[in-house]
Amino acid sequence: MAEPGGLQNQNLCEKCNYRNDISTDVFDTGVCGLCGQIGECVDSDLIDLYRGLGFEDQFIFSKLPRLRGPRTPIVELEKTLSWFDIGEAIANTTVINIRKKREHNN
Ligand SMILES: [Zn+2]
Repeated sequence: MAEPGGLQNQNLCEKCNYRNDISTDVFDTGVCGLCGQIGECVDSDLIDLYRGLGFEDQFIFSKLPRLRGPRTPIVELEKTLSWFDIGEAIANTTVINIRKKREHNN
């Protein structure tokens, strides 16, 4: 499935991922952009963004999309997430979070 010349998408499976500073807690099932296998994958640019915003792994795991790339080989069924989509997901999650915190305080 993988063609010479680079990644098919941003997902990297456990075998292809070269970063060892990312917990498997933030991996999700997807199609690897390098070898094309379906497995637990990481999108390290995405996780770096979340970390830069101060989100803990557990928060990422439970609240945010962990992959931008496809999660099944049937690409037509799958919307690849853009940075815009990710921005929306963060905004929605964060707003919900602020609202929940306010409700707690009342
Ligand atoms: Zn792979």
